[in-house]
Amino acid sequence: MHKLHQLNFENTFARLPDTFHSRLNPTPLPAPYLVSFNANAADLIDLDSTESSRADFAEHFSGNRLPPNAEPLSMLYAGHQFGQFVPQLGDGRAILLGEIRNRAGELWDVQLKGSGITPYSRQGDGRAVLRSSIREYLCSEAMHGLGIPTSRALCIVGSDEEVYRERIETAAVLTRLAPSHVRFGSFEVFYYRGQHEHIATLADYVIARHFPHLVDDADKYQLFLNEVTQRTAKLMAQWQAVGFSHGVMNTDNMSILGLTFDYGPFGFMEAYDPGYICNHSDPGGRYAYDQQPQIGLWNLACFAQALSPLIPTEDIHTVLDSYAPAYHQHYAESMAAKLGLSKVMQNDIQLFASLLKMMHASQLDYTNLFRSLGNFNSSADATNDPLRDQFIDRAAFDAWVASYRARLQQEPDSKRKARMDAVNPKYILRNYLAQNAIEKAEKNRDFSEIDRLLKLLGKPFDGQPEMESYAATPPEWARQIEVSCSS
Ligand code: AMP
Ligand code: MG
Repeated sequence: MHKLHQLNFENTFARLPDTFHSRLNPTPLPAPYLVSFNANAADLIDLDSTESSRADFAEHFSGNRLPPNAEPLSMLYAGHQFGQFVPQLGDGRAILLGEIRNRAGELWDVQLKGSGITPYSRQGDGRAVLRSSIREYLCSEAMHGLGIPTSRALCIVGSDEEVYRERIETAAVLTRLAPSHVRFGSFEVFYYRGQHEHIATLADYVIARHFPHLVDDADKYQLFLNEVTQRTAKLMAQWQAVGFSHGVMNTDNMSILGLTFDYGPFGFMEAYDPGYICNHSDPGGRYAYDQQPQIGLWNLACFAQALSPLIPTEDIHTVLDSYAPAYHQHYAESMAAKLGLSKVMQNDIQLFASLLKMMHASQLDYTNLFRSLGNFNSSADATNDPLRDQFIDRAAFDAWVASYRARLQQEPDSKRKARMDAVNPKYILRNYLAQNAIEKAEKNRDFSEIDRLLKLLGKPFDGQPEMESYAATPPEWARQIEVSCSS
């Protein structure tokens, strides 16, 4: 394990031509203090966790003091935002310090988010507020706990510097780790500019770093597009299965590695509603929960267009056509697992659909209902009352139970509950849980709730008796929580 000054930086993105980024230092953050530190993420970059108790730790992860081999830069990209192409975006408030090679040989981007104005800031102030930094910090670790690919979060550093949003808030810097921060929009910017040589340079860079098995293949660009397509299809299925809504699925927020990243107004669905919109700034529901799978494909089509100078049109179509079947297969497998079914059989899609329809009608909590299904007793004389009582339409429930029971007879029943509990989380990051942590942090500089949630959400499938109340459906006051693009 390394001390701060020993971190093993190896900065590959900084070696790309200047067109791809702007070099700059973070803007100093006044009187920074450590809000939370995530030892699990520290392991990813071989950082000795005891370093977090150094008096100057916050100075380092506010960007006020840089590690010796960092080469700070902001990345250039463009993107389709709510359907409209914006030719120039880029890290408007993030700075990549560089990449760290860990003992396992993996290269991790280390990025400060909220570290001040950059050449891509447009009208923005370059800052992130404590509230949204806490949400991203907790959600990325919650997603990791759920087994869903995501960027990670090393720590949050706060400051009393004021930041103006709908109200006055305070600034924070989140240190984010990811195998890559390259987005669909990183390619789109060069397609728009007609700089096709840069598209090839970036594709070659990404392939060499992340898809080395493709390097010598004559069809490497098509195969790269295919990998991104398959990963995105799987990611969308994972989001849908766990009830996660990203909120801002612009192409600049879509990772070429199929990671969940750029957490903003995300939300985990509570009462089941396919049209669930988590983002208050998206009244039309472009990014509603049930739109996500098709938006994934829409975004891939934008990405494919940016790669079109490198791939024959016919091959692009072949790849994009593979998205829907891949998505449906992953989704069906995930839903089958949630019902304790080891494989997908012919009428299973109908079985999921009718359960979801009943859940919608009864406004049942998506997470808790699936979790409680683990206790379903499949013997013919069992009444399953605690479950049955939750549904308004008991006759529909009884009919569904008859099909489910019949279907379970085709399964090896041993350890069904254990299998179901391993895929149906007990704990998710509910908005009200995040809100409680945020309020304690903002009002009293009490960060204990953040740490408690970090620990809990790291093991979302394990029942933790003393934490039972954290699985509760939202209290009445939580209806007032509004999350928007403002962060
Ligand atoms: P997002 O929707 O958060 O991914 O942001 C879209 C774009 O706006 C990205 O290029 C961000 O870097 C940029 N951005 C968001 N908030 C700010 C801010 N406060 N200051 C500067 N740029 C920002
Ligand atoms: Mg973004």
